[in-house]
Amino acid sequence: MGREKLIEQLLVRWEKFIRSKSSEVDSVSKSKPSLLEISNEMSAFISGMEKLSSCFQCKQYKPFSSFHKSKSRNGVQSICKSCIKISREVLKHQEARKKIGHQIIIGKIKRKPCEVCGEKKTIGHHTDYNKPLDVKWLCRKHHSEEHARLKNKLSIKN
Ligand SMILES: [Zn+2]
Ligand SMILES: [Zn+2]
Ligand SMILES: [Zn+2]
Repeated sequence: MGREKLIEQLLVRWEKFIRSKSSEVDSVSKSKPSLLEISNEMSAFISGMEKLSSCFQCKQYKPFSSFHKSKSRNGVQSICKSCIKISREVLKHQEARKKIGHQIIIGKIKRKPCEVCGEKKTIGHHTDYNKPLDVKWLCRKHHSEEHARLKNKLSIKN
């Protein structure tokens, strides 16, 4: 969430609060919001802003709970947990691809036709980056289908 968007949301909440209080003035309770109520709402507003930190990687403002703690800065790391996870996966993937590529070059592993359609031109798809030599052979089309499927599965989980 961008900072502007967040401020907007907090302002909408503030406005609602004021409106709810002023309608009470006209009708039932005849009470204006007390100073305490106003200051409570204000501090909720401010702490809502304070408990956010921006991620250097994805440029989003996220709550502190989305970051690992750190002794520097405002107490949290500059990159959010999900960005750290993604970059770790990317690194693992690169490593795994390098390893399989090397095995093919030295002839230890042979490229196989697509497991789905039998197409000869294939990509070694890693089901687990921790097992770099364990690949599923898929053609371009079925490889991108597999990734779309995995992405879907992930976003449903989230
Ligand atoms: Zn991030
Ligand atoms: Zn195929
Ligand atoms: Zn793949």
